[in-house]
Amino acid sequence: MATPILSETESQLVPSKSAAKYVYFFGGGKADGNGKMKDELGGKGAGLAEMTNAGLPVPPGFTIQTEACREYMRHGGVSEEVNRQMEEALAHLEELQKQKLGKGDNPLLVSVRSGAKFSMPGMMDTILNLGLNDQSVQALARRSNNPRFAADSYRRLIQMFGNVVLEIPKSAFDEVFDAKKKHKKAKLDTDLDAKALKEVIEEYKKVVKKHVKRDFPQDPHEQLVMARDAVFRSWQNERAKHYRRINNIDDMLGTAVNVQAMVFGNLGETSGTGVGFTRNPATGVKEFYGEFLMNAQGEDVVAGIRTPVHISELEKIMPQVYQQLHEITTRLEQHYRDLQDFEFTIQDGKLYMLQTRNGKRTGRAAVRVAIQMVDEGLITKDEAIFRVEPNQLYDFLVPRLDEKKTKVEVLATGLPASPGAAVGQIVFTADEAVEKAGHAAKKNPVILVRAETTPEDIHGMVVAAGILTSRGGMTSHAAVVTRGMGKCCVAGAGDIHVDEKRREMQVKGQVFRQGDWISLDGTTGRVIKGKLDTLEASPDDPELQTIMGWAEPFRKLKVRANADIPRDAIQARAFGAEGIGLCRTEHMFFAEDRIPHMRAMILANNEKDRRAALKKLLPMQRSDFIGVFKAMDGLPVTIRTLDPPLHEFLPRREDLMVEIAVLEATKPKSSKLKELRPLLRRVEELHEFNPMLGHRGCRLGITYPEITEMQARAIFEAAVAVAKDGVKVHPEVMIPLTATLKEMANQAGVVNRVAQEVFKEKGMTVPYMVGTMIELPRAALVAGEIAQEAQFFSFGTNDLTQTTFGFSRDDVNKVLPTYLAEGILKQDPFAVLDREGVGQLIKMATERGRKTRADLKVGICGEHGGEPSSVEFCHQTGLNYVSCSPFRVLTARLAAAQAAATDKLKVEGGRTK
Ligand code: PEP
Ligand code: MG
Repeated sequence: MATPILSETESQLVPSKSAAKYVYFFGGGKADGNGKMKDELGGKGAGLAEMTNAGLPVPPGFTIQTEACREYMRHGGVSEEVNRQMEEALAHLEELQKQKLGKGDNPLLVSVRSGAKFSMPGMMDTILNLGLNDQSVQALARRSNNPRFAADSYRRLIQMFGNVVLEIPKSAFDEVFDAKKKHKKAKLDTDLDAKALKEVIEEYKKVVKKHVKRDFPQDPHEQLVMARDAVFRSWQNERAKHYRRINNIDDMLGTAVNVQAMVFGNLGETSGTGVGFTRNPATGVKEFYGEFLMNAQGEDVVAGIRTPVHISELEKIMPQVYQQLHEITTRLEQHYRDLQDFEFTIQDGKLYMLQTRNGKRTGRAAVRVAIQMVDEGLITKDEAIFRVEPNQLYDFLVPRLDEKKTKVEVLATGLPASPGAAVGQIVFTADEAVEKAGHAAKKNPVILVRAETTPEDIHGMVVAAGILTSRGGMTSHAAVVTRGMGKCCVAGAGDIHVDEKRREMQVKGQVFRQGDWISLDGTTGRVIKGKLDTLEASPDDPELQTIMGWAEPFRKLKVRANADIPRDAIQARAFGAEGIGLCRTEHMFFAEDRIPHMRAMILANNEKDRRAALKKLLPMQRSDFIGVFKAMDGLPVTIRTLDPPLHEFLPRREDLMVEIAVLEATKPKSSKLKELRPLLRRVEELHEFNPMLGHRGCRLGITYPEITEMQARAIFEAAVAVAKDGVKVHPEVMIPLTATLKEMANQAGVVNRVAQEVFKEKGMTVPYMVGTMIELPRAALVAGEIAQEAQFFSFGTNDLTQTTFGFSRDDVNKVLPTYLAEGILKQDPFAVLDREGVGQLIKMATERGRKTRADLKVGICGEHGGEPSSVEFCHQTGLNYVSCSPFRVLTARLAAAQAAATDKLKVEGGRTK
């Protein structure tokens, strides 16, 4: 028995609603539960109950509710009451089916499947054909008149049970099976006859005995109890935990277990099985979409052993069944008022529905389906705006494949690791990528295909148009790096075998070599044969505009963008940004032509020299600001004074030391040495043990006021210049990393003085504000005082998270994976705002600031400004705006609209699952 997974204290937090009824029956036209009971029955169980109540052909069974799983997690086992209710439900099922579990001439066999409240496809475990043993397999053979089918079902059970319940590695069974195939010279699994399969069964039993020192359980009831408990345990497997983490699903929910009478799609040529969607989940087009296989079991469709056929073929093979399936799924869609993803099995010409649920879909499909359903009168416009996940809007900002012109042959489907599309010629190493691509993805597009990528592949990843890996998940190196690069990636396409030595990739019996064309769809994870055309990003897509047009009137929060250069500002405005919330001026200093002047300024050892260097930088900054102000005509622009420590603008200390040592040894008289020695001295003077907490932020402007003076002058001269050309300009000067009122007063003093000087010199004034970033807990605590001088606050939640947790934002990845795996943190606090800690500081600082200055404008400009759950929190806290990178502006707009609409419509739109 497993050890308890939850402590008693934690377990008290778990609701134990409806604890008395653990088991819900469905069958014979009615169900104990219904479609609304997802908390108790999970999505699958609720769907089965609802379909049964609607009179649809569903194999009967029962659902053991999630409370039993939580009980299992708390105590490492379930109570006697759960066992009692389960046996009672089983007796009911046996009576209804006129069969006995694993007994008699016509034995009852069941499937045991997981099913949580939120769908977690493929994350937890399933056991089919349960009830088979040495006796019942013979009965099944007689009854089906198909000994091969019976033996195959039994060997599958031993294999699944052995792996899932007894935790024997899958490879131990695969070895036996493959050896048998080899011995019998069988190419396909289906080439093994009944005799061979019986031999496999005997060998599988030996595998079980060897690994777990016991026989494969012959008692069907014991099989059932063990399988149920294994499904409960699978809630805690690493895959499932990881999935919950990235999808923000509560670890405490637990899964339900569905025990259902088996129906067989592999009973012969009038049987089959398939999956489908009521509309195309990739494009949203209203078409019956799906695939099936005749004479097969569900796992054959998923495992890709045989190639499934398009669902339209079913109409030719079994027109009546096709009609019935079409009718049922259309009814289901009408009933649930959403696109359905369904599973079905045909046994001896009779159709059974095994599952229905709201189907996952791409962002484009989500938008299209929502609009269609409004047009069809299925949902209202208010409901439609919640049918699109804000993050999905990214799909509109990246290129996609044009699937209209060419026949699409999907070779494999991996994880949609980084969205967008890429079309190119295959290369197998990073060096080849560089060689073939000619150093630029656009020139000669290549797709880098690897089993998995490592940091050594970076140079190839940079030039490749897209990346494909056969191993690794959503947080694999390939996935993380490509998302950072904004480059398309399909990861973990397990059906593809990459042979790096032979420079080939094998999939679906085909071999692809270097130079062959493939197309990747990073939004759906599809790998497609050949060279498809791509369609450009389309932020002005009419359907997107329609949905945004329904959502936007609700929105209260303004959405601004973080942009440092005019090009980004123009882009952000095209995506709907209503101003700039953060212009990081240091990015202007990093430009190649400016860095020498910046260095001269830093190296100066007196104020006069420093001012001379700053004077050279002034016109450059001014022209940048002119560009940004023009791009944002009529909208506010928040410009932050210099923030990072000065050493960031100088060469690295270690590099300089090496360079000097080499020169001293080789060219001791070189003039370069004269340059480098003082540079190294200055680098050493500026060296800090903890630069993030060091000489940065407003501390720079206070110790070197001439820097703030120069920046303020550049801002106001630019503002006056554009205002004279008729541009409406609203500069907001922002002081970073303040902790005290006096710091703020000091820097505001400099800015205001320079503003007056410039206005006087130019004979014109422009409206402006001076405010601060709140990035330190002390600033949040004394926000009431700081607001005496600050006309606005902008929460720098990157630094505020860093300083509140005391996590270095650049080094947190050493700790974070363990913290997430152990459940110490639910999410990465640098990605999703920590509402309980950082969020409370934001709330308090906003309240205290507004007490001092009622019209204080408050925003947020850390990474969280474009993350839907954080945006929701900002709305709830009464902030005025969020600011995020241009590519997240659309997401933030929809998230802000949904948050406001949730208040107004009182619909279930909350983002915390
Ligand atoms: C922040 O700290 O949240 C912020 C926006 O500033 P930066 O990321 O530049 O430190
Ligand atoms: Mg900061």
